[in-house]
Amino acid sequence: MTSLTKLTLKAALDGLADKSFSSEELTKAHVEAVAAARPLNAFVLETPEKAIEMAKASDARRAKGEAGVLDGAPLGIKDLFCTQGVRSTACSNILGNFIPTYESTVTANLWRDGAVMLGKLNLDEFAMGSSNETTAFGPVINPWRSEGSNAKLTPGGSSGGSAASVAADLCLGATATDTGGSIRQPAAFTGTVGIKPTYGRCSRWGVVAFASSLDQAGPIAKTVEDAAILLKSMSGHDAKDSTSLDIEVPDFPSFVGKSVKGLRVGIPKEYRVDGMPAEIEKLWEQGIAWLKDAGCEIVEVSLPHTKYALPAYYIVAPAEASSNLARYDGMRFGLREEGANLTETYENTRAAGFGPEVKRRILIGTYVLSAGYYDAYYLKALKVRRRIADDFDQAFEKVDALLTPTAPSAAFGLGENADDPVAMYLNDIFTVTVNLAGLPGMSIPAGVDVNGLPLGLQLIGKALDEGTLFSLGGALEKAADFKAKPAKWW
Ligand code: GLN
Repeated sequence: MTSLTKLTLKAALDGLADKSFSSEELTKAHVEAVAAARPLNAFVLETPEKAIEMAKASDARRAKGEAGVLDGAPLGIKDLFCTQGVRSTACSNILGNFIPTYESTVTANLWRDGAVMLGKLNLDEFAMGSSNETTAFGPVINPWRSEGSNAKLTPGGSSGGSAASVAADLCLGATATDTGGSIRQPAAFTGTVGIKPTYGRCSRWGVVAFASSLDQAGPIAKTVEDAAILLKSMSGHDAKDSTSLDIEVPDFPSFVGKSVKGLRVGIPKEYRVDGMPAEIEKLWEQGIAWLKDAGCEIVEVSLPHTKYALPAYYIVAPAEASSNLARYDGMRFGLREEGANLTETYENTRAAGFGPEVKRRILIGTYVLSAGYYDAYYLKALKVRRRIADDFDQAFEKVDALLTPTAPSAAFGLGENADDPVAMYLNDIFTVTVNLAGLPGMSIPAGVDVNGLPLGLQLIGKALDEGTLFSLGGALEKAADFKAKPAKWW
């Protein structure tokens, strides 16, 4: 039944609907693929019994004519989403064997629509990272390899498990989160589609918090249409998250395949950064040509504060993280390392439970929020954030969407940037602006580099205009006709 794992989500849902196969068959095929792919280390917890049980329940619903829009489709869940009764760790030792008594709203929405859970996916610890190397469970290995090389590559981060498992056909789609690029960069590194919706589209309730003003959930999928189907199910108002938007969720899948004729697409000149590989520049030009052929008007635009986005992000995100992570004190969740008194217990627990990157973020965050530095760093970063949002507002007076590369390189080697945090942070140069401004952004696989590794193009939309991104993404997907898959070595 391995061919069932090659299906797109849409094709699988069609096959379930016309009874070509059952959810139990489809789920079994994926459970087997997951078990056979342990060398990728994409899953930190496999839940095969639960998957089969959910699949059987789905088949029973379908037999009664009560199937939901995702009924019977096996998905992977990033281990940042709390799942009731199923260990949820954020890939941090500090959460230990934390078993939530509640379900995140996003995953609850997926189960409401009939989806099946295969297990929990690896990520950078608390979603802090761009390579999935900061996880407490060991890095995810990208299913892709450079031509003629066996060197292990990173799938990107922080949603590396989500991206790798979709690319390797272990699941039909996966949940992910994006605080500064964690959906889009791993999608670009693995030849998959990822969309971070507008801030507020998806509820953050039950998603372990990293930086609350930037965090947003979204899907990683095999195709633009699959991403649209998943996002529709994940989105919606939730009274339990005061930042979740109380507005109607558009029918995202209906935007895929729509004509993009006459749409104006902006090319921000500031995204031409020094040292960007010529191939990425070339791919960007190619993307422009594809959109022109599809009838779009291409307009050069300026986002003058772009160069301040990365430093501003690496102040705002750690500041919020240092505050959010204060709750891990050994009293309420997971790990506790006893000390001689309460303060020592806090210190021992936090020293033992957090990894080095998380400690670095807490130190940076605490520093920029401390008296005397607050104005110079944190307030300044908030002002930069406002300017960046204003830049986008001005650009969107002239254009309907923007096209940029997703990341400044293809997937890099494990360990390559691991001892240079700043080099690692530079990966997020094209993605963080979107989070700072709360806008939707999508990565579409558009080609391969000289080594045969996938490269992605990013579309940035107006707030709440994911629909246009799905139309443009569909047009790019059609033109790029990206069919490459990683050669199976695991
Ligand atoms: N790579 C960025 C960081 O380390 C973004 C992470 C994310 O989006 N969760 O903060």
